[in-house]
Amino acid sequence: MLVSEVMLQQTQTSRVVEPWKRFLQHFPTPAACADAPLSSTLTLWEGLGYHRRAKSLHGAARMIRDEFGGTVPSDIEQLRRLPGVGDYTANAVASFAFHERVAVLDTNVGRVLARAVANRELRASEARVIAHELLPRDGATAFNQAMLDLGAQFCKSTPLCSTCPVMKVCKWTNEGGDDPAPNSAGVSRPQSAFHGSDRQVRGRVLALLRERHLSKGALSRSVSDVQPGRLERILDGLVNDGLVEYRGRTIQLASS
Ligand code: SF4
Repeated sequence: MLVSEVMLQQTQTSRVVEPWKRFLQHFPTPAACADAPLSSTLTLWEGLGYHRRAKSLHGAARMIRDEFGGTVPSDIEQLRRLPGVGDYTANAVASFAFHERVAVLDTNVGRVLARAVANRELRASEARVIAHELLPRDGATAFNQAMLDLGAQFCKSTPLCSTCPVMKVCKWTNEGGDDPAPNSAGVSRPQSAFHGSDRQVRGRVLALLRERHLSKGALSRSVSDVQPGRLERILDGLVNDGLVEYRGRTIQLASS
């Protein structure tokens, strides 16, 4: 559950399924991931992007091995201490893995709350209070899953109200007015274009380094469409993020 939730951050479910299976096959326990070098996690991260998550997950596996006896904690505060685990991921793991009665609030649920429940823009604190108040005494896990599905399948950026199962009780549909979702806290803005972005170049560099260690010259020739100054800056960023390292004159995926 923790692996899937970290992989699902800013990434569509369809892109996560295969890497998730591959990852768990390779690392069936947190200790297996923790004992392997970071480069193994980075290699298994192929196709997912946002590689800092891979470093965080590897760090979380090490903390779970070293501080929690090799078992993912169920306590929200302990979950939040894990690298890369924020409020959403901690609550999702607590709810879906341990059936704790906590609200799971992501961008999809944020839209449902703003439209169906409040019919006004919500601040983050308001959304959290409403999400908690809505939780049933029993079956909170199923309720959270239903809310996520409602937001992902029907209450999208462009909502599919005519087929939505809660249309009859949806405040926005019944009262009308401007769409309250876009400016509500927690509702994500569209991501910047990927093609031609630094994010894309970072992904290309990491993909090359998954195959083999490279000298800077060889790397530069492999991405010859990227200006040397820009490549230098992107490499610096990858080193600062702890994702790649220099070994003598060679560049490689970071080992720890
Ligand atoms: S009726 Fe429309 S706005 Fe209301 S919850 Fe369903 S999809 Fe969202």
